[in-house]
Amino acid sequence: MNALAGRQTSRGICIYCGARPGTDPAYEEAASALGTALAQSGHTLVYGGGEVGMMGALANAALAAGGHVVGVIPQTMVEREWAHSGLSELIVVDTMHERKAAMAKRAQCYVALPGGLGTLEELSESLSWAQLGFHAQPLFLLNMRGYFNPLLSFINHSIDQGFAAAADRDLLHTVDDINALWTHPLFPTPTQT
Ligand code: AMP
Repeated sequence: MNALAGRQTSRGICIYCGARPGTDPAYEEAASALGTALAQSGHTLVYGGGEVGMMGALANAALAAGGHVVGVIPQTMVEREWAHSGLSELIVVDTMHERKAAMAKRAQCYVALPGGLGTLEELSESLSWAQLGFHAQPLFLLNMRGYFNPLLSFINHSIDQGFAAAADRDLLHTVDDINALWTHPLFPTPTQT
């Protein structure tokens, strides 16, 4: 592990996803496929630094394909041995707030894959901050197997009930699979990261 060595501010694709694998192997397979694709295309992966579940599948595939992988993780999680031990860079921070700030600093865009409450919290913050104009990085939702349909329904409900603007729907770019992510006009080219 090269803690904080070398490239201190690698910019890349910031991915939020679950620390659990989900019930269907298709979830981890998609995380692995995305990790491989990122590495092969020369994108740096920025993620939460975990080694299990979707996070582990994503990072391991990117590393196996020779990619540059930056993990950002709080010290308490390192102490619980939750940190991936083989990353290109491991950035250890004090708090969850610092973790999200460090990830945001390096994010060329955000991609949310299926995950649980942690993923939802990270995605919500990025989405609400986009709504406020605090950042302008594109935010993608990989809605594989319709996993995020209830969240999309909630956002529509919020708009219908007058608690969000219809334009806010456009802040979240929903794609059904990795191919659609890759070919999305707002997805960065590697030279932009
Ligand atoms: P979730 O979507 O609830 O699985 O949350 C993913 C987020 O949970 C990660 O970004 C971490 O903040 C945290 N997390 C929970 N368990 C772990 C773990 N075993 N290893 C690393 N991060 C974890």
